Amino acid sequence: MAEADEKQLDTSGNWDCGKATKQKRRLPEWMINAVLDKDHTDSKKKRRDQQKTTLVPDLPVLKFTGNIVYCYQKDDCSFMCEDIMTSSSTSHHDCVLGFDIEWPVTYTVGKEEKTALLQLCTSHNKCYLLHLSCMPGFPGGLKKLLETESIKKVGVGIQGDVWKLLRDFDVQMKGGVDLSSLANQNTRSAEIWSLDNLCKYVLKQRLDKDPGVRKSDWRRYPLTATQQQYAAADAYAGLLLYNKLTQTTCRGSEDRK
Ligand code: ZN
Repeated sequence: MAEADEKQLDTSGNWDCGKATKQKRRLPEWMINAVLDKDHTDSKKKRRDQQKTTLVPDLPVLKFTGNIVYCYQKDDCSFMCEDIMTSSSTSHHDCVLGFDIEWPVTYTVGKEEKTALLQLCTSHNKCYLLHLSCMPGFPGGLKKLLETESIKKVGVGIQGDVWKLLRDFDVQMKGGVDLSSLANQNTRSAEIWSLDNLCKYVLKQRLDKDPGVRKSDWRRYPLTATQQQYAAADAYAGLLLYNKLTQTTCRGSEDRK
């Protein structure tokens, strides 16, 4: 039971908010449940199965109901990205973008298709779908936005996306925030989260991961309404998760104001 002991969490939900505040805080309900759920199983295998199967089958599907901006022209794309950067520099808040990319699956070992679509969700109301596979070359404005460190790009397994963009387009994305690490800091665990599982745990919602859409040809123009909804929901989920996870970690400093 060494493992369970290690992860023992005070059932009253007390925890330390980290270096910044150094004060005991009450864990939000979802984190207590997430951590306690895990403590009550005694093997990693059991925990993984639990994540995959018994995790709440009837959760509502997370949908993006805001405005989807579908962009397939290079110049328009650059222009939109400049616009996002301008509004971020005039805003008083940190600029945080829900980030994701899609590419078509290949069944050849060692072969991987180029990124076909890049999603940026700026708010509950707006998500940009940048259809890169339709553009002759990588848009300069987008490169600039991605390489700007002060603009946070949040997603699960973001480092993988950083490498992918470097390989595909020689773009060195900066300002990536990995939601998986953020969640693990909060629950004091070392899970490998998928975006969907993180949504279930944190947001009590699930993503519609229809394999027909997930494995569809993301290069084909125009993207169908179903593809657009799927892609937007992924990026939106990232933004929602970030907001939720940082709300609970950083409230300490706000409380003292
Ligand atoms: Zn995705």
